[in-house]
Amino acid sequence: MPLFDFSKDPRARIDRIRRKTLRMIMEASKSTYPEEFAAFLRAEEGVIRELVLLPGTVSGDSHAIFKMSMLPVDFTIVGTVHSHPSDTSLPSDADLQLFRGYGWVHMIAHYPYDTDCYTAYNGRGEIIELEVVD
Ligand code: ZN
Repeated sequence: MPLFDFSKDPRARIDRIRRKTLRMIMEASKSTYPEEFAAFLRAEEGVIRELVLLPGTVSGDSHAIFKMSMLPVDFTIVGTVHSHPSDTSLPSDADLQLFRGYGWVHMIAHYPYDTDCYTAYNGRGEIIELEVVD
């Protein structure tokens, strides 16, 4: 049972990501490997455009810990991205809990971090397609 109806919020319609932002995710994931990279996603008009690195966001060798208390009141932040050091972007139980609790779109990047090495999920943990745009 969702806390509220996500589909009624305009932020629920995020279906694109800038190629540049996707490249940044993969570069950051590569350089953090074998630890996990984690950041928040910023979107405008349905397009994920920016990574937001927050003080206190931890990347470690277990699943990434997002410190929600560090999150500013910022309605352009639409979700999270983190990397897996393995070759799967299947969400863990902790990931699914995070997805349900916060945000509209969540990306998991996986090894070896090519530009197609990721999966995007909605708040219910269902796979969503992101169109890559310039
Ligand atoms: Zn994970």
